[in-house]
Amino acid sequence: MQAFEYLRPETVEAAVAALNESGARALAGGTDLVPQMREGRRSASRIVDLKHIGELTAITVRPDGSVAIGAAATATAVSRHAAIAATYPAVASSVRLIGGVQVQNRASLGGNICNAAPSADAVPALLAQDARAVIASPQGRRESSLAELLHGPGRTSLSPGELLVSIVLPPHTPRSAAAYLRFTPRREMDIAIAGVAAWIALDARGAIAAARIVLASVAPTAIRAPTAEAKLIGEQPTSALLTEAGRLAAQDARPISDTRGSADYRRTLVSVLTARALADGCAQIQAGAP
Ligand SMILES: Cc1cc2nc3c(=O)[nH]c(=O)nc-3n(C[C@H](O)[C@H](O)[C@H](O)COP(=O)(O)OP(=O)(O)OC[C@H]3O[C@@H](n4cnc5c(N)ncnc54)[C@H](O)[C@@H]3O)c2cc1C
Repeated sequence: MQAFEYLRPETVEAAVAALNESGARALAGGTDLVPQMREGRRSASRIVDLKHIGELTAITVRPDGSVAIGAAATATAVSRHAAIAATYPAVASSVRLIGGVQVQNRASLGGNICNAAPSADAVPALLAQDARAVIASPQGRRESSLAELLHGPGRTSLSPGELLVSIVLPPHTPRSAAAYLRFTPRREMDIAIAGVAAWIALDARGAIAAARIVLASVAPTAIRAPTAEAKLIGEQPTSALLTEAGRLAAQDARPISDTRGSADYRRTLVSVLTARALADGCAQIQAGAP
């Protein structure tokens, strides 16, 4: 591994200043970055460790009910946070899929997003919940939708010197729920051949008022399934409708064939997982989800 300078700032401003240097790279848990540097797939002449910045590891419930998750908060901290587990269970369960316990104790939500793997397990549930990203740069802070951050495999819209500070989950919508399901050949310690997160809101008559469906591992980034979403609006969530939404989501997918699965296999998985994730969301609402 190449030699690098190691910096451990204690504020976001100091981290941004440290990152504003050619060859500088942020380090959170290092579960992606360290193996990539060892294998020569990524290089860095300066490593900026984010784990000692209080704001980046904090999880805060705001007065309006939204939740700000520091980008360096670990998967374990996120999954065990009471408000996240109660109100955003799809987010909590998705980060419990990241590797095993040791990995989850290191891996951060921000690292999962910024590594920008199409199979990243935390991303679909966050997109389904309409999460936003707070980004710091030498010019100050800006907020964007999380979707805008993802540009392609291993690529984000962050400019050199920009830092993902937090991910904000909006206040809970009454009578809504989300679920994330993935398919892996092994039950654990494997990456998704396909994954689907679905968020659904029902109106007082039990019809679908709003829906977001996010597909993973079937395009260069996690993507929405607009045709499937449009089909759902205003309809009763019957089993036939959810199956049809799955069929349409498979058409919205843009999978490739590789050693882990063919494009056709991935479309079949998307179809099945979409119907199941939507049914899971409906069941949560009917069971009295908050
Ligand atoms: C054994 C093993 C199993 C795994 N299993 C899974 C799995 O099942 N599902 C899955 O999704 N992933 C899996 N991973 C991948 C990895 O653990 C996750 O992607 C993890 O969330 C990355 O977080 P990190 O904090 O370790 O990121 P790091 O490795 O520290 O950083 C990753 C990248 O993001 C950048 N970065 C980090 N934080 C910021 C920030 N705040 N602002 C800007 N850039 C930033 C870094 O510079 C780096 O380029 C696995 C990894 C291992 C080693």
